[in-house]
Amino acid sequence: MADHDLVIIGAGPAGLTAGIYAGRSRLSTLVIEMMMPGGQAAITHLIENYPGVSALSGAELAGRMQEQMESFGATLVSDSVSAIEPVDDHFNVVRGSGTTTTTRAVIIASGTGYKKLGVPGEDEFTGRGVSYCATCDGPFYRDQEVAVVGGGDSALQESLHLTSLVKKVYLIHRRDEFRAVPILAERVRAHEKIECICSHTVESIEGSGAGVERLILKPVAEGETRVLEVPGVFLFVGLKPRTEFLGDLIDKNEWGFITAEEDTKTKVPGICAAGDCRSKTFRQIATAVGDGATAVHVLERYLDDGEW
Ligand code: NAP
Repeated sequence: MADHDLVIIGAGPAGLTAGIYAGRSRLSTLVIEMMMPGGQAAITHLIENYPGVSALSGAELAGRMQEQMESFGATLVSDSVSAIEPVDDHFNVVRGSGTTTTTRAVIIASGTGYKKLGVPGEDEFTGRGVSYCATCDGPFYRDQEVAVVGGGDSALQESLHLTSLVKKVYLIHRRDEFRAVPILAERVRAHEKIECICSHTVESIEGSGAGVERLILKPVAEGETRVLEVPGVFLFVGLKPRTEFLGDLIDKNEWGFITAEEDTKTKVPGICAAGDCRSKTFRQIATAVGDGATAVHVLERYLDDGEW
């Protein structure tokens, strides 16, 4: 007999929602999270587009979801997963700690990590001026000038958050139009502490033993490079799925996102994919929680009668 009915890999909004639904359905459920619960949402300073929640930090929202999930009996453990192995009527979930957990069904809700910019100095100065999390590292730059790179929701939202801490934010984007939703673009353009440097890319990040000292910026069109003296740069140039551990077991698209439809079913009966790691057009907390609920609904049927 398997240790659990369901193992959920990842405790972001998709995984935590799946845990709430599974617990209420009285499935024996283990949630495995290798970092902190909440996923990308947990490092978002302000959530203001999740229905019913007008303004809450991502960490607080994640904390509430976790509490709700645990109240229904799902167990959260801190560990990584290195492989899923189908064996007869169950799956072995091989964990980084060296243990193997057996389960009748799996939800992969492993989310995404940040993409790197891939410029000289990025790796060298990560943790010494190069950051991917404004909530975590913004307070180090109180009353100083910093740079943010990117033009999506993350870059603009986190630039706005940084204005409450730092003296000035230089927002560097490779085009002159933002990818982010218009309301964020309006707020950024109107903010007195944010200077937009559009149609520029970062050529390199330079510094010394003490950390980052300057960025070298290059105009996309012809023109001179520009030196921006800042002690910190926050990079928000997109997300990549955490799906390497799946190997060839599950189909993925060219970027590594799991190719499952709205019903969250993968090609392997008994395994669903939910949230940002699934191939989809819109990655939001609101769409992740829908996936988590759907996956449990699908797997309850599978556990009852093998339907796939
Ligand atoms: P994103 O939407 O993929 O935006 C990435 C940004 O980085 C784009 O502006 C892109 O430029 C730029 N970029 C990519 N590679 C680059 C490079 N090599 N050099 C310079 N710039 C580069 O990523 P995201 O902002 O992290 O958002 C990811 C997902 O999470 C989105 O679906 C987003 O809606 C969602 N999200 C939502 C919220 C919210 O609702 N409040 C908050 C955060 C994130 P181009 O525009 O030129 O391609």
